[in-house]
Amino acid sequence: MSNWSRRSLIIAAAAAGIGLARHAAAQGLETGRSVAADPFALGVASGDPSLDGFVIWTRLIGSAGEALDAPAVPVAYEIAADDSFKRIVRTGRIAASPRLGHSVHVEVAGLEPGRPYWYRFQALGVVSPTGRAVTAPRRAVSARIAVTACQHYESAWFSGYRDMIAAQPDLIVQLGDYIYESAATGAKVRSFGAPEPTDLAGYRRHYALYKSDADLRAAHAAAPWIVTWDDHEVQNDYADLANIRAVDPAVFSRRRAAAYQAYFEHMPVRPSRWAGPAGPRLYRSIGWGDLFTMPVLDGRQHRSGQACNPERLGLNRMVADCSLIDAPERTMLGATQEAWLSQTLTAERRPWTIIAQQTVVAPISLPGGVMTDQWDGYSAARARLLTDLSRPAVRNAVILSGDIHSFWVNDVPRDRGGPPVATEFVTSCLGGSLASKARFSQARARNQHIRFNGLDNAGYVLIEVTPKTLTADLRAISDAADPAARVTSLARFVVEDGRPGAKNVAAAS
Ligand code: CA
Repeated sequence: MSNWSRRSLIIAAAAAGIGLARHAAAQGLETGRSVAADPFALGVASGDPSLDGFVIWTRLIGSAGEALDAPAVPVAYEIAADDSFKRIVRTGRIAASPRLGHSVHVEVAGLEPGRPYWYRFQALGVVSPTGRAVTAPRRAVSARIAVTACQHYESAWFSGYRDMIAAQPDLIVQLGDYIYESAATGAKVRSFGAPEPTDLAGYRRHYALYKSDADLRAAHAAAPWIVTWDDHEVQNDYADLANIRAVDPAVFSRRRAAAYQAYFEHMPVRPSRWAGPAGPRLYRSIGWGDLFTMPVLDGRQHRSGQACNPERLGLNRMVADCSLIDAPERTMLGATQEAWLSQTLTAERRPWTIIAQQTVVAPISLPGGVMTDQWDGYSAARARLLTDLSRPAVRNAVILSGDIHSFWVNDVPRDRGGPPVATEFVTSCLGGSLASKARFSQARARNQHIRFNGLDNAGYVLIEVTPKTLTADLRAISDAADPAARVTSLARFVVEDGRPGAKNVAAAS
């Protein structure tokens, strides 16, 4: 077991169709199958570090991104304290079941805090690539967090991940729109080669296609991810069960359930958190030593439909005369999640509270009004969030957002025109069509709390946290349609301990 060699095993498996150990057969598991393709072609991932562990992920796949045609398959895993697997600290076995698309999630516990570990899997006579995970530290004097969102496979190469991997982040945070369900409307660099997914098989193929991207796989193998979803993991602009074609909620709920299951099958999220009686639970909180708490929100599954839409219609619109956006009963998070967040924030003890979520929180008032899909369309819920972030227990509130394919730095006021209570960093898309310049050209002039907006680049945000400062480097991709794109610093902002709001500092190299 300690001498697993990926290359030799793939060659051997391909040549002879090696199966797994005999005792697997005794358990009624799949053995003796020859593998024509690498079952680990979708790569490996880790996520949600705790003090003593993390979750590791893989999904066994057949040829050409098709689901594996097999009953349950035994999968062995190894966790090592070194990248050459000389000091193995944990081994185990788990069955990859066709019911979950042969995906594997192992929640590893009992490890040492604050250090890297390496992991790999073995199944069907093949060894997986090696991934690197980390446990959360007990104490931390710094942390590096890469923040990404919105990646359209057809519109862009995911070359931004190379810059991200080179930066050696402790964590990669993905804020949603990990997949796009629908075809790109602008120029394409590659094709889905399939219609829009609407069922489980379709969404599975879609994720498999995404994970055929080598840069994306490398980013998953390099560091633990903390993920949440936005709308495109199911369908553009959906809100709870309101949807863009206004189909019957009962019909749409089946599509949504299929999309949610496929999401789980392809992401390093903990099954113990996910599988609740009330359905998938994605909101949770990650703690990082004595440095920061990261509440991760689900702003899609439980929200009210966008205001002033016809019944059943989920659609983001610009509105100027929709007083319903201020209705107090409207919710972004749903009552249960909102109460949980409030409780989490009241109990906060760490100096930095970094909220990882989907859509822009700061008000953006435009000549045509406000966008109903963002927190602007849920203003009472936003006021409740900002009240919670103003509590004494929350020393420094920072909000991470994505969704609008452009970079923004916002000083978020509790009341318009008032002092900021939080600082918001909005990451651009990792790859996709860029935000409309015409729509946002007057945004800064009309909204004094917007400190920066960058409408010209895809990219991501690289954050460095210390006890006294949080610095955000906006990393701009020269051209996401160029597979050899360069990534440079567009701007850099710092938040100082005890002083909400961003200060512009010199851009990094
Ligand atoms: Ca979105």
